[in-house]
Amino acid sequence: MLVTLKELLKEAEVEKRAVGAFNVPNMECLRGVIQAAEDLNVPVIIQHAEVHENLITIEEIGPLMVAYAKNAKVPVAVHLDHGASLTACLKAIKLGFTSIMYDASLKDYETNVKETSELVKIAHSVNVSVEAELGEMTNSAIAGGEGRESSLSDFGNVDLFTNPQQAEDFIEATKVDCLAISFGTVHGKYMFEPKLDFERIAEIRSTTQRKPLVMHGGSGVSEEDYRKAISQGIRKINYYTYMNMAAGDALKKKVINNSSTEIFFDELSLLATDAIKENVIQALKIFNGL
Ligand SMILES: [Zn+2]
Repeated sequence: MLVTLKELLKEAEVEKRAVGAFNVPNMECLRGVIQAAEDLNVPVIIQHAEVHENLITIEEIGPLMVAYAKNAKVPVAVHLDHGASLTACLKAIKLGFTSIMYDASLKDYETNVKETSELVKIAHSVNVSVEAELGEMTNSAIAGGEGRESSLSDFGNVDLFTNPQQAEDFIEATKVDCLAISFGTVHGKYMFEPKLDFERIAEIRSTTQRKPLVMHGGSGVSEEDYRKAISQGIRKINYYTYMNMAAGDALKKKVINNSSTEIFFDELSLLATDAIKENVIQALKIFNGL
């Protein structure tokens, strides 16, 4: 069943859990994620990142995402991840997405407020939820939001973390439904163990009247850190890199073990779907406190 992000976050707030948000740039991801959510009977967010347009365009995958969400046995929000322009956001809304992220976090603060506010007005008038970002998650600047790997210089730069007072001002000015914050996570594969600033999550929650907060760069974080972040108020967790690697690992094993026999691609496609599903199940269990 297709729902808005706002509805999902409201329930997550009451039940003190986080909703998993997964990028689905191919059928294997789309089917694997929906199957995982249905198996566990939990709500889920499927999202298309603008940076994945090189893998598949929103015109191609968007209608499929909406169709899968409508047919799912669990509530599903269809979300645009890291929308960088008004055009991209409007395109997603036209395709039936129920939620968009407008990411102007790399622009100056006043511009971020101005552009996000304008977008919120448009989106809310057609019952579409809006996520925005404040503070900077490194790697996002380089890779437009979903880079492959993080580097040492990406870590612990507190100057880039979200400022709690600014978050209060931003939410009041823009009326966004949820806010992606920077507190130590980065996009892509973690090359070093992340040190998350949990106090900052709690502080931002207190200045923003418990607004739902979003963790980007969610895959690769330890189970303990996920649980801590959720207990402090993280309500949406973006997850992609490690489910993508899980599929790659499964295919690698299959190919190596069958190097002398024929391999059919449709079998590999199903194998990848299963590997993604299993990886997403593990993540969803943690996010939903199961
Ligand atoms: Zn992100």
